[in-house]
Amino acid sequence: MLNVTHTTMASSVRKVVSCVILDLDGTLINTDGIVSDIMKIYLTKYGKKWDGSTAQRIVGKTPYEAASAIVEDYQLPVSSDELLLEVNPMFSEQWCNIRALPGANRLINHLRGHGVPMALASNSSKENIETKISYHQGWRESFSVIIGGDEVTSPKPSPDIYFEAAKRLHIDPSNCLVIEDSLPGVTSGKAAKMEVVAVPSLPKQSHLYTSADEVINSLLDFRPEQWGLPAFQDWIENTLPVGPWYVGGPVIKGFKRGSKMLGIPTANISTEGYSDVISEYPPGVYFGWAGLQNHGVYKMVMSIGWNPYFNNAEKTMEPWLLHDFSEDFYGEELHLVIVGYIRPELNFSSLESLIAKIHDDRSVAERALELPLYSKYKVDPYLQSSSQDNVNQ
Ligand SMILES: [Mg+2]
Repeated sequence: MLNVTHTTMASSVRKVVSCVILDLDGTLINTDGIVSDIMKIYLTKYGKKWDGSTAQRIVGKTPYEAASAIVEDYQLPVSSDELLLEVNPMFSEQWCNIRALPGANRLINHLRGHGVPMALASNSSKENIETKISYHQGWRESFSVIIGGDEVTSPKPSPDIYFEAAKRLHIDPSNCLVIEDSLPGVTSGKAAKMEVVAVPSLPKQSHLYTSADEVINSLLDFRPEQWGLPAFQDWIENTLPVGPWYVGGPVIKGFKRGSKMLGIPTANISTEGYSDVISEYPPGVYFGWAGLQNHGVYKMVMSIGWNPYFNNAEKTMEPWLLHDFSEDFYGEELHLVIVGYIRPELNFSSLESLIAKIHDDRSVAERALELPLYSKYKVDPYLQSSSQDNVNQ
């Protein structure tokens, strides 16, 4: 018995570090959304259509490298410098609209609150980093070091930027933990002999991050205690408070597998108009309250993601209203208030184990929604509002 306990404890700490160095774009803020919005507009000028595939080539790159990849991929009649000259003002206008990714504020506040030294190391220019973080309250003063790609000779994937960050923190690289979303970033951190947690920003790419020490689904799944840092204290009865996030739309006919294959009748909603927010919700299992316009308010547990077991092509939200309905309600307006997170998306070896896990999730959600922290949202006016009210909100 003693041995077992010992092994468990030893394996729960991977390595003890004394500081955290964070990447910015795609790790703490949702830059990808802004990039695709701007490139969609920019490329129409040349009669081209942004298809997103270039996103994989430019993630983690310097602005110049990203511009070169776009010029090449779309065979644009401009130089990389010319492209940057044109799009830079478009980006400057949008910096204020880049949202913090789920878990970013929680992580920064937690580490700062415990006095863990933090640095920001990004391939962006120092000036752009300063501008981007100025829109996020409390971030600037949380980092004792901020270093841009223009302050080192070679940007990521070279280790220069991480070496320089460690030097300025006065901490040995071997005691630094890096959190990164991109492959060039992970390569850079590992080349600097640091521990690296990867939190891939592009979907379905996790398998490529073999050099990272750990790959997590999102910042919500980061466990600082595994690195000898103070643990988060905000998990309550196996749930993590998030949001509240508000999503709604008419119920549509979903994938046939929903009720037939699983015996779990999910109410698929049309999420037109919410695609940008859904793109940044980490895939996983969540819960909250569901307001069905002509019926009432119900407990709800839901998955967001691609459902690895079925390997969906599109990211979807599939809420399961925890109530026995005697009739279908296609077309009815469904409003969701998402308040808690249970676990990341997982793959399963069998349909039975998937179903068993979904029923576990249901129990966790049903119990948690009785806690005042979550039950108070049952009366949120959004749940019973009509679409017309939304428009006027
Ligand atoms: Mg990044």
